[in-house]
Order: sequence, then C-alpha cells, then structure tokens
Amino acid sequence: MKLLLLMTGNELMSGVTLDSNSSLIAQKLAPLDRRVAEKVTIGDDFALLCAELERLAGLADVLVVNGGLGPTSDDLTAEALARVAGVPLQEHPEALAHLEAWCGRRGLALNAANRKQALLPAGAAIVANAVGSAVGFRLRHRGCEIVCTPGVPSELRQMLDDEIVPWLAAEFPSSERVVITRMQLFGIGESSLQQRITEEFPDWPAHIELGFRAGAPTLELKVSSYRSADEADRVACEQRLQALFAEHIIGTGDTSLQRRVVELSAAAGKRLATAESCTGGLIAALLTEVPGASQVFDAGFVTYSNRMKESVLGVAAATLASHGAVSEAVVRAMAEGALARSGADYAVAVSGVAGPDGGTPDKPVGTVWIAWGSAARLRARELWFPVARKLFQTMVAATALDLLRRELLGIGTEPRYLRERVRRR
Ligand code: AMP
Ligand code: MG
Repeated sequence: MKLLLLMTGNELMSGVTLDSNSSLIAQKLAPLDRRVAEKVTIGDDFALLCAELERLAGLADVLVVNGGLGPTSDDLTAEALARVAGVPLQEHPEALAHLEAWCGRRGLALNAANRKQALLPAGAAIVANAVGSAVGFRLRHRGCEIVCTPGVPSELRQMLDDEIVPWLAAEFPSSERVVITRMQLFGIGESSLQQRITEEFPDWPAHIELGFRAGAPTLELKVSSYRSADEADRVACEQRLQALFAEHIIGTGDTSLQRRVVELSAAAGKRLATAESCTGGLIAALLTEVPGASQVFDAGFVTYSNRMKESVLGVAAATLASHGAVSEAVVRAMAEGALARSGADYAVAVSGVAGPDGGTPDKPVGTVWIAWGSAARLRARELWFPVARKLFQTMVAATALDLLRRELLGIGTEPRYLRERVRRR
C-alpha cells in the first residue's frame, strides 16, 4: 500500500509555520505498517493544488491531504478536489449538522463563511472532527483514497486517533506487526551511545531499525521491527540494549526524569524537597508537572539572594562569606536546611552561575554546585555547563533530577557526567 502526503498552506512555504503535521501523521501511521513514501508541500494555489491532487492520486493508494479546510478564502481543498474528481460541490447534510452543533455549543450563529465548510465534493464521506469546526472528508479518485484533514494540529491529532487510524487499519489491514519501542536515556551522548552499540553489537540484525533523537536533556533511542517474523529479534535486541545502558535508561515510552523520580519516590514511600538558586524553581516546577506529585513532594525553596539562603534555609552567614554562594559548603547547607525544614527524606540543592554575567576566573559562567541525598548521606559535586542561560538551567535541573533518580534506585556506579561535565583546571 502506497501512502503519500500533500501538505498545503502558504504559511508552510513562507516558514511562518513549521510543518509538524506531516511528522504527526507519519508517526501515527507507522505502527500500522504504513510508512509515508513521499510528502509534497505546496502553498494555497488553486491550480497547483488541482495538479498535485491529480498527480499524487495517480501514484498513491492513500493520499492524506492536510490544510485548507477552514472558512477563509485561502481554504481551497474541497473545491480543488471537486474540480479534479469532476463532481460538483454540494452542501453535505452531515457536515452542516456538525457545523450547526459546533456553532450552537459556542452560542454563535452559523454565518456564510462557516457554511462554506459544509460544501464538499459530491460523494465524499465525512471524517468527523471532535474538536474543531472543519470536518474532514474522504473521496476515491483514480483508485486512490484521498483523505482531507484540518491544519490545526490538535484537530488533526484527534482525527487521526479517532477516525483515520482505525479506518486505515480496517481498510488496509496489514498481516505484519510493527513494533516501535522508545527508550528515554539521560547522561550519555548520541555519539557515545552509537560507539558502544557498534562495539558491543557488531552482529546487530539489519532488519531491526535503530533510531536516535537527541533532545535536551534526554535522548530517545528507538528500536523498530516491521514484520511479525522479526519480533523475537527485536525483543532480543531490546534486552541487550537494556542490559548495556541500564543505568542511563529512564524508562520506555513517554516517560521523563521528573515522572520517574515521582514514581520511584512514591514506590519507596519517600518524600522530596528542593533548594534552588540558579534554576529559580525549575526543578520544583518539573516535579509538580507530574500528576500525583503531592504524594511525594514537600517543598521547593527558591532562595536567590544570600539573605534568603540564610533566613529561609538557615545557611550560616559565615559560610556564605567565606565560601561564596556557589560552593560546596553552601549547597550542602542548603540541602540540609531543606531537609530539616520540610522533613523530607531526600533533597537536592543547586547553586551556580547561569550567566551571561557574574562569572569570575575561579567560578566562570556555567559553574554549578549540586548537593543531593538524605541527611544521613549527602553528597555534593561541582559541574560545568558552559552553555546559554536557559540551557544551563535545563541541564542543571535535569542533572539534579537524575541524581535523585539514581539515589532512589540505589545505583552504585557514579554517573559519567560527574567525571565529564567538569571544568579542567
Ligand atoms: P488550515 O486548515 O489550512 O486553515 O490551517 C489552520 C492552521 O493550522 C494554520 O493557520 C496553521 O497555524 C496550522 N497548520 C496548518 N498546516 C500545518 C502543518 N503542516 N503543521 C503545523 N501546523 C499547521
Ligand atoms: Mg491553510
């Protein structure tokens, strides 16, 4: 089965809008063993739209068209498809009913512009849109199923989940079972990961696809098999990866460092606190992003000035004066203060120079001290992230969360970033 995409919109051509929809479509259809063979992007040009619809319909079994379903004059998809298929545009009763209901829920009167969205090529079947006003539709032309979808990403996502993926699975069943596993890793770079895989798995099977996606702060490793017969090999490959990178693997699927830390704390019945200077509360914000954080998170202290480090966390004025705010003694005192004042079991404390100003020869921009652990076993290390302010904060917060994760898991080995992310003097 050949699947093609036709993405439309002047905003895609001018670069104002980044085409995230084609990647969403490709990702949603891949597990059905339906891979996009080609994607074409064009502006809102009626003649070009007609020409591409005709050409691509001649090549594809399924053509997904995206964009141009709205109420405005640059929304041309229905009209172009009617022209190409040689059928009239007709007011579609189901589409009209959808629009009336959509307007009704918002207390709006159906105007002529909205009504235009019910004008579909004769013979088209509608594809329901649970979210927005524009209905999707489907028409067969030149032996190709042409599926027209809205440009608004949230509407497209819902339509793919509710309508298009189930329809495709039923209409074009595949005997193959595609499985894609995504592992989230932290604390190892893409090149080191590739290097170790090459070294350890010279016999990696060609039919098991390995994909990398480097994000800050985590890295995604994707293992895919496309045939039922390859499943056992995929499972074996996955197990070998799990064994090799165990300490770096946060989890599979959509997990994150903060989610993992909350899960692990909840499972262990442990409570957490944070004491933050240079991250301004980011670590606490990440933890509280996770539903159920209240079960494990006691307090996040954001103490930016020395005065507040003293009064809120009880850091001694003398310690601040003799060591400076970015120092082992101060982050230890911050963590101890957070533990004592919150009664939490584990704390993490950070103090650093986020930049771009404020660096000194001794403590240049990018320097950070992190303390983590329990009252009984508190550790502290200096790290160096010489990157822009925002990325610095992201990296420091992620590192702090990873140190908590390792603590909660009882991982004995020292993470490599504690050796690598340091300033050579
Ligand atoms: P349309 O259905 O063409 O009226 O598109 C509605 C809105 O969806 C546009 O204004 C864009 O903001 C957004 N949009 C359209 N195409 C894409 C795309 N390929 N990726 C992400 N957003 C898009
Ligand atoms: Mg458009």
